[in-house]
Amino acid sequence: MSRGGTVPERGRAVAGRLRGVVAMDGPSGTGKSTVSRRLARECAVPYLDTGAMYRAATLAVLRAGLGPDSAATDVVAVARDAEIESVIDPAAPRILLAGEDVEAEIRGPAVTGFVSAVSAHPQLRELLVGRQRAYIAAAVARDEGVVVEGRDIGTVVAPDAALKVYLTASDEIRAVRRGAQDRKAGRGADAATVLAAVRRRDHLDTTRTVSPLAAAPDAVVLDTDDLSVDAVLDELRRLVAERGLVR
Ligand code: C5P
Repeated sequence: MSRGGTVPERGRAVAGRLRGVVAMDGPSGTGKSTVSRRLARECAVPYLDTGAMYRAATLAVLRAGLGPDSAATDVVAVARDAEIESVIDPAAPRILLAGEDVEAEIRGPAVTGFVSAVSAHPQLRELLVGRQRAYIAAAVARDEGVVVEGRDIGTVVAPDAALKVYLTASDEIRAVRRGAQDRKAGRGADAATVLAAVRRRDHLDTTRTVSPLAAAPDAVVLDTDDLSVDAVLDELRRLVAERGLVR
């Protein structure tokens, strides 16, 4: 039974603006970014990609000449000084590092291979979680909804989110999607390498001591193995309408 708003028909856009925080979590290759961004765009609210913030911090760390064996204090110090700015327009989201658009560079293999190790540092997380909450608080202060995507949004960053969704899919399907994305961006790798990289990152993200990747107990879990992007979006539209988050 719908508590607010009407449930949109399949394929029908959300009619109105979103209010409240929508937390979108899950591992890579689940289609999280695509559906989060499309939902935000459709609802005319900001979209915050927290993974891009961890990636930008990682790029700053690499540019400072640090690597996997560097001391945590050095890594955190670089991240603290890095001027990371998220452009939260869902029509053209991007990330700036000291004013430079680094959107393409943060998706490359150097950052992707190192980001999970960097984002496991507790003090670095504290720093970025504080900044993420500031973006959310600013949206809430403007009486706007916001779609926030990451690994720990429903559990740590915004535990009071009005809607929490956790997207999953099998490792194999996620690796196929990741491989297709990489090829589109001109970075080819064989299927076995992509699958191994997906599993390695999942392992690091789910086993770190501070805010590991996990579904919040009150999250709606959607298995996207057999769902198209449009079908996931339909389900999100249904959920925001059902919870009365559209006005
Ligand atoms: O979402 P994306 O694949 O760009 O995230 C890159 C990495 O950033 C993840 O593998 C994870 O290590 C880290 N991350 C995180 N917490 C978030 C978002 C991303 O630790 N909220």
